[in-house]
Amino acid sequence: MNFDTLALRATHQPDSVTGSVVPPLYLSTTYARNEANELPADFLYTRPNNPTREALERALAMLEGGATGIAFGSGQAATMTLFQALSPGDHVLLSTDAYYGTPALLEQVFHPWGLTYTRVDMSDLDAVKASIHENTRVVWCETPSNPLLQITDLLLVSQMAHEAGAICVCDNTWATPVLQRPLDLNCDVVMHSTTKYLSGHSDVLGGALIFKHDNEFTQRVRQLQGLSGAVPSPFDCWLVSRGIKTLGVRVRAQSLTAQTIANFLADHPAVEQVHYPGLPTHQHYDLVQQQMNGPGAMLSVQVKGGAEEAIRFIGKLTLFTRATSLGGVESLIEHRASSEGPHSTTPKNLLRISVGLEHAEDLLDDLAQALK
Ligand code: PLP
Repeated sequence: MNFDTLALRATHQPDSVTGSVVPPLYLSTTYARNEANELPADFLYTRPNNPTREALERALAMLEGGATGIAFGSGQAATMTLFQALSPGDHVLLSTDAYYGTPALLEQVFHPWGLTYTRVDMSDLDAVKASIHENTRVVWCETPSNPLLQITDLLLVSQMAHEAGAICVCDNTWATPVLQRPLDLNCDVVMHSTTKYLSGHSDVLGGALIFKHDNEFTQRVRQLQGLSGAVPSPFDCWLVSRGIKTLGVRVRAQSLTAQTIANFLADHPAVEQVHYPGLPTHQHYDLVQQQMNGPGAMLSVQVKGGAEEAIRFIGKLTLFTRATSLGGVESLIEHRASSEGPHSTTPKNLLRISVGLEHAEDLLDDLAQALK
């Protein structure tokens, strides 16, 4: 089935009782038992399970081709719960370029708790191999990575993880299942910040883990979801399910515009470097053609002249909103080092762009006038 059909099949199920074409939103926190003290549909209390959340979890599993999906109140809550399912003494391998919140969780929460971790350039396969130890339980990939858009070879890295008895997790937030399906590339778990493309309108905070197999580890994660209560509200689940219906159309249109913008910026004399996997000059351009259905709608640009020039440039833009986050219908631009804070290793002249659904010509005009 093509992705767009799958996305509709996954989220469009008319209600069998009322015929409602749009799925109902179940706000109730608790569920009534009948005279025999039985629960009519196995729903007891909304923290461990809720029908609107379950509908989203089923849809997420279908989109990524997994056995089961587990939804959380944020991307960070999803990541946190996966690490909580490990044991003190376990080791995690993480890419050097990754969303800064992932290493922050490992360093500030899980290191004191007894997890160890190493960061490695995931494009250096010898280094990956050398960094996998006997106690490595998770190899965590993020591809394309944040904010340098580096690409990890998921087939090869997941094979290395499996040979060592570890699982391979892929943060698929930037690619989305429209452009990349890590479980088809032998990864074991997909992580999403559903805050981004899946909801798609910058109005929901959410996260998810999708598992290839429903095994003991998966059940432990589900148990932690219910115990800790790091769950999304029913309304947020409903909004993410609604966003999924248009995911394919949005991501393809946004990616086309991103490619146009990347081409324009790459040729501009005021630009030092463009990081975009759709440019033939990208280090992993060939791998992108094999692994992805398109390079996506995120790009980073380093302008000549340092941080001051970068900030002056974005100050002159009128169609790009100067804000963090990504994946919404409106174009955003941010001076990434300012968002990441004092420990940021991101180049100071780097601006991260999330391309929205505005017309490409208007966005190009805006960039051109600001770069003058
Ligand atoms: N992973 C990636 C790639 C992200 O970009 C983000 C947020 O920007 C996260 C994870 C964390 O998600 P959330 O903000 O929903 O907790």
